[in-house]
Amino acid sequence: MPELFPTGLKQVDARHLGIVWNDDHESVYDVKVLREACHCAACKDEFTGENRIPPGSIPDDIHPADISPVGRYGLTIRWSDGHDTGIYPFERLRELCPCPECRVPVQKKPG
Ligand SMILES: [Zn+2]
Ligand SMILES: [Zn+2]
Repeated sequence: MPELFPTGLKQVDARHLGIVWNDDHESVYDVKVLREACHCAACKDEFTGENRIPPGSIPDDIHPADISPVGRYGLTIRWSDGHDTGIYPFERLRELCPCPECRVPVQKKPG
C-alpha cells in the first residue's frame, strides 16, 4: 500500500468535508461522523474501546472550526463544540471514506 496523504482539503458545505488524496481519490465525509469517530482519550476508552461520547451530546450543527496538520501523519480538527484533542491519522481517515469504492472489500472488486 503506497503511503497516502491528503493533497487538498475543502469544506464542501456546512456538513461535509472533502479530502483529495495523493492517489487522486476524493473522499467526502459527513463531519458529524468524523466527530463521532474521534479516538482521543476523552471520546474513546483506550482499554475497552468503549465510546465515551454521551449520546446526544454532539450538536447536529457540529462542524470543524479549524483543521491543522499533525506532523506528517494526520490532522487535528478543532470542532465548533470546542473539542480539539482528537487526532485523525491519514490511514484512519482513508478507512473512514464513505464512498462505495472504499466500502467494497478489496477481494470482491469486479474483474
Ligand atoms: Zn475526542
Ligand atoms: Zn473512497
